[in-house]
Amino acid sequence: MTANKIGQLVLAGALFILLSAGPARAEGMKTVRVLENIYTIVHGDGIDSNTTFIVTGEGVVVIDTRVNPAEAAKVKEIIREHTDLPVIAVINTHYHGDHTFGNQVFRDSHTIIAHENVQKALRGSAGQDHLDRVKSFGITGLDEVTVTPPNVIYRDRMELFLGGYHLMLLHPKGGHTDGDTIVYLNELRLIIAGDLVSSKKIPYMGDAYLDEWINALQYIEDLDNEIIIPGHGDVGGKPIAIAMKHYLMNLRTLVKDQLHLGKNLKETQDAVRPVLKEKYKDWANLKRLDGNIERAFLEYSLKEKI
Ligand SMILES: [Zn+2]
Repeated sequence: MTANKIGQLVLAGALFILLSAGPARAEGMKTVRVLENIYTIVHGDGIDSNTTFIVTGEGVVVIDTRVNPAEAAKVKEIIREHTDLPVIAVINTHYHGDHTFGNQVFRDSHTIIAHENVQKALRGSAGQDHLDRVKSFGITGLDEVTVTPPNVIYRDRMELFLGGYHLMLLHPKGGHTDGDTIVYLNELRLIIAGDLVSSKKIPYMGDAYLDEWINALQYIEDLDNEIIIPGHGDVGGKPIAIAMKHYLMNLRTLVKDQLHLGKNLKETQDAVRPVLKEKYKDWANLKRLDGNIERAFLEYSLKEKI
């Protein structure tokens, strides 16, 4: 048998496996049953933002919608494996495209809920600018995106009582963005933290404020909870929020030390990068370290001047 024929057979076999496994899904995409009727879709090819869905007695609540309509359609498909009930509400934990660019797929729920600053960030030209920025990261499937901002907004907190579930939407005054929402199911001691918590991944800090973020993580830690669903990475408990807080505290201390020595940004990056790289060598996204250091440098050089 020629190598070409073997190749064709392997390909045919792979195709069969793919077809018999149902529609193709992003590599590594995995549905985790967190509690009865509560599922989180974790990991995925490239963009790995988590989506959680709660199958309530009245319908499904979806928290975050992934990065593009195709990914969101996969979420819908997975929901259909668990229930025939309609999606009755969507919650966005913050405005970033990897959590909101699938919103349009759930428009028939008529209810997309988020903090008021998420609507500001996604409405009109701001939303288009954000889409263009995310496109510049080379993510596929974005040409099909119609930016769909939330149509139900809140300022301080909001509570939903749906089909036997009580969801508290809490806004911890910023951190990862200025419109972060923590979804807290206190009876179940469960928190859906959005990107305030990334599990074993260096976070994106493009529009973050460290002090606020550390406070938000302390707030999460102080809530009575046992299970934390992060924005990226595996579901865990309080240790994943504490690890995130320690990462940000380390970043803050190291950058402030350099500022006090009068170092410039490049010198600060060269001094801090290797320390964090060693300490967090088992975390993903180490290439984000320089950006994180820059963000901290900016925040504290401005604060020190005041
Ligand atoms: Zn984010």
